[in-house]
Amino acid sequence: MGNIVRTDNLVHEYERRDEEGNSIGVTTAVDHVSLDVKEGTFIAILGHNGSGKSTLAKHINAILAPTDGTVWVDGLDTKQEENLWEVRQRAGMVFQNPDNQIIGQVVEEDVGFGPENMGVPTKEIWERVEESLKAVGMYEYRKHSPNKLSGGQKQRVSIAGVLAMHPKVIVLDEPTAMLDPGGRKEVIRAARGLNQVEGVTVILITHYMEEIVHADRVFVMDHGKVAMEGTPREIFSQVERLKELRLAVPQVTLLAHELKQAGIPLPDGILTRKELVEAITAVSRE
Ligand code: ADP
Ligand code: MG
Repeated sequence: MGNIVRTDNLVHEYERRDEEGNSIGVTTAVDHVSLDVKEGTFIAILGHNGSGKSTLAKHINAILAPTDGTVWVDGLDTKQEENLWEVRQRAGMVFQNPDNQIIGQVVEEDVGFGPENMGVPTKEIWERVEESLKAVGMYEYRKHSPNKLSGGQKQRVSIAGVLAMHPKVIVLDEPTAMLDPGGRKEVIRAARGLNQVEGVTVILITHYMEEIVHADRVFVMDHGKVAMEGTPREIFSQVERLKELRLAVPQVTLLAHELKQAGIPLPDGILTRKELVEAITAVSRE
């Protein structure tokens, strides 16, 4: 399958200004990033605060235009004015704060806004609302007021709202940052469902390493650049490098790393408790 998102030497500079509004230089938030995202995959973008993740995300939805380099979404160059509408149809965005994204008084209405604005016929809007709410496990809440939902539920409604526009790729920019552990799990499960059941390409931006375990491919950003790229296992294998990049390595991966350093022959890149238990069991049977 083709590349749904491609960036070639993407650079984004923000102008820095003093109190009077005079330009005092630039911040290079994205610094020559070249990446390919295959259609249908689940991609994770990791990085500490200020590493350039949100700026990169905004290019995928053509909210920002490149200072230099090129971004293609489904083959469409985001620099071309005439492509903007199409790009925004094909790439949906979910942001950090669920309260800023929900505008409807009733869940099903909220999810219907996107397709309605796109001019989708009424009958089809309701079909899309139903299928989208089912996809994120929120169908039974369709008549509820969004205000009364938990953070994880609100975020799932936001995801349904984007899904109802039938995008080819959904970018979730730290969708779990404001949620409790239960809400985080719900949202990650919904994101995986979009990918596996609905076949939508998912780009999950996060600074929680445990959320990338199921990704097909991971990009780690640092100072606007792609510092690491690989499968979750390849990434988790490089504990020292991850610490340098100021990422919180999951306890289980750290423990496995320390056991290995202490001389226990475990494989690199242990991702889950189950894997650690199995690896230790295998060693103790030898
Ligand atoms: P992340 O999402 O990884 O935290 P961002 O893309 O938000 O990173 O920010 C990358 C860099 O760009 C940071 O140094 C940040 O201060 C700067 N930046 C982000 N948005 C703006 C803006 N609107 N104006 C000026 N600088 C910005
Ligand atoms: Mg951000």
